[in-house]
Amino acid sequence: MIPFHRPFISIDALSMMEEALTSPQLAGNGLFMRQCEAYFEERYDLRKCYLTNSCTTALEMAALLLDVGPGDEVIIPSYTFVSSANPFVLRGATVVFADSETATPNIDLNHVETLITEKTKAILVMHYGGIACDMDRVMALADQHGIFVVEDAAHSQGAFWKDQVLGGIGHLGTYSFHATKNTTCGQGGLLMVNDPRFIERAEIIMEKGTNRSEFLKGTVDRYEWMDVGSSPYPSEITAAFLWAQLQYAEEVQSELLKRWNYYFEAFSGVSGVQLPSISEHTRHNAHTFFLKLSNQEQRDRIIEELKAHQISASFHYLALHRSPFMLKKNQVSLRNAEEWEDQIVRLPLYYDLPQEDQDTVISLIKNTLN
Ligand SMILES: *Cc1c(COP(=O)(O)O)cnc(C)c1O
Repeated sequence: MIPFHRPFISIDALSMMEEALTSPQLAGNGLFMRQCEAYFEERYDLRKCYLTNSCTTALEMAALLLDVGPGDEVIIPSYTFVSSANPFVLRGATVVFADSETATPNIDLNHVETLITEKTKAILVMHYGGIACDMDRVMALADQHGIFVVEDAAHSQGAFWKDQVLGGIGHLGTYSFHATKNTTCGQGGLLMVNDPRFIERAEIIMEKGTNRSEFLKGTVDRYEWMDVGSSPYPSEITAAFLWAQLQYAEEVQSELLKRWNYYFEAFSGVSGVQLPSISEHTRHNAHTFFLKLSNQEQRDRIIEELKAHQISASFHYLALHRSPFMLKKNQVSLRNAEEWEDQIVRLPLYYDLPQEDQDTVISLIKNTLN
């Protein structure tokens, strides 16, 4: 049996969590949480990071900070996880779906340009598999039209566009530490506040709408309700788990990259498969290895064939513009997003996947293609 994914678990995880359990602070915003935030701020030169319960929560905080609401439009890729859309829909904004590129599942910026209107308040980009969108072009478009950029960098911890980490380029960015991501603490996320104009309000929104963070600094003698807000922090137990995991994040990534490159080479020049396209300014993090087949039947046949050998491979997102929830309001057709939905297959990939298992996967696929 070859599973699709196996999370790496640090040998220090239990002892770190034990330390959290015996510390005076169990609730969020304690020492472990601040250590994790500092890890990202220092390592990736990020202005302000907040640990959250999930990437979904971090995106909800981004939507609150952007103050989007009824009448506002937010352009998002159709080919993404539902959590890229829900935070804006929850605020009453309208999501406008953009198509994917043909070379990658990432948002097609030519299409985005045609979708920008007076009502557009923000663009959300999602870097599929840690492969960067052209962030120079995204930021130029946003500047030109006075709109904000949110990076759903759920896949992208440790991946770069030029010399800047993904999630750290748009006005706001988010990571996920869900069990399926490169670094996990079970469930967790990060909000990156890159534009300093959002920091003052973020301090309040993240503290349930109060000025508790000023109170903790001693600048006020009580804390009060100042604005809307939520309770997005994880407990210190989760933060301690993440802290233990982060100590090995780079090693895990390098193991993933080796295995990603092994697949890439094995499928180079094989007819009937489209390999991931990595542009020159991109340093990806091997979050997922995927192929695009020439049609859905072929893709499904590969998944079935692997399954018959107890190997778990997977399709991916169901394009949001044709989801049951959106079909009622939205009747567009987005050819590339639909193709990615129908034709992508993701192969087993995790930090200690044995090479013999990769060879088995590779030869089964090559045989099926012939
Ligand atoms: C995993 C994922 C999310 C959600 O992450 P959670 O931490 O589970 O909330 C959001 N967007 C994308 C693109 C994802 O892959």
